[in-house]
Order: sequence, then C-alpha cells, then structure tokens
Amino acid sequence: MEKIQLTKSKVGKAKTMDAEKKELQEAINRALKAANRALKKNDFEKVADIYYRIAYMMNDLGDLETARKFSEAAKQFKEKNRILNEINNLMAVADAAYQNHDYISVAENYLKISSLAEIFGDKSTSQRFKTEAEKFLEMAKLQLKTGAPKITSMSNFASSIQSQVPSSIQLQPGVARGKSKSSLGYDEALVALGLICRHCGKDIDPDLKKCPNCGNLI
Ligand SMILES: [Zn+2]
Repeated sequence: MEKIQLTKSKVGKAKTMDAEKKELQEAINRALKAANRALKKNDFEKVADIYYRIAYMMNDLGDLETARKFSEAAKQFKEKNRILNEINNLMAVADAAYQNHDYISVAENYLKISSLAEIFGDKSTSQRFKTEAEKFLEMAKLQLKTGAPKITSMSNFASSIQSQVPSSIQLQPGVARGKSKSSLGYDEALVALGLICRHCGKDIDPDLKKCPNCGNLI
C-alpha cells in the first residue's frame, strides 16, 4: 500500500495527458504480453482473467467497443477452459477404463471427447477420437487383450484450439480526449490490470498465479 501511495504522489499532476495515455497504453500492452504467455501455457483461465481486466480498463477509458471485444474474447476463453477441463476428465476416465480392458467405456468416453472437440471447431481432433472410439468398439467385440489400440494422447490437443491473442492494442485517439483519463488513475489502473500486486504494491505480471513478493494470489 505504501508503495502505491508513494508512486501516486510522485506522478502527481505534472504529467501531460498524452504521457499518461502513453503510459496506460504501455501498461495494457504489458498485460497483453502476459496473456500471450498464459496462452502459450494453455492457461485459458488466466487469459480470460487478463482479458476481463483489459475490458474493464477499456470500459473505464470510455472505449466501449474494444471493451466489448475483450469481454467477448474472455468469455470464449472461459468456455474453452471449461471444455478443456471436461476433456481432461474424460481422458482420465478413458485411461482408467483402458487399464481395466473396459474397451466399451473407452469408446464411450472417446465419443464424448469427439463431440466436445467438434464444439471447439476442431474437426481433425473430433475425427481422430471418433476413429479411435470405433477401434475400441471393435476391440470390445473381439475381446482381445493383445494388440489393443494405443490410447490416444492429449498432448497435441490444446495447441490446435488456441485463439489469436493480439500482441498490442492502440488506444483510440478519441478515447483520451473524450474522457481526459481513466477515472481510476494510473496506479489504480495498474492494479486493475494486475501489473501491481494489490496486497504489497510490488510490480508483478498478471500471468503469475501468486505474487513472488508477498505470496498472495493474484
Ligand atoms: Zn504482493
């Protein structure tokens, strides 16, 4: 808290509107870079969280159109995260069924995964799991325990369902003019974007789970 106060008084009113706008833009772009890092780790929940933060900022700045886009994208990432978790659960069930040579159960779970992949718009993964499911159904019919088809790996699944994250956004010229600056103020904006820890005031990155300084959840 103390550090936030200190920075605030230091910034004061000396800065021009353009400088503040530029700083805020850099802050938002830093948050976007963090979203990209989270995306590379397939951490869709984090991506959604950072997108909601950016949407909140853009809304505060009066750029409702960009705010809406980020909010919409955040919703999609949240949904992706939900479906991906569901697929991971089904994979675990299928894996356990495979260990027990319960090939009908493997096939059933693979068919569910196939449907979920289709919702994602990932046709090739959907088809792959459908084909595998058919193989396991054949296996169940034959009741053979040797030469069973190898259980499909999830390793490449998440990479095929990634969406594009922009590496930077440009604040609209009219945004800062219409509303001289964010009503939050620059330091509050950094906290809202997850670039400053709201517990200890240290500089952080919003793609982290915990603050490296105080250990609180971000
Ligand atoms: Zn902290």
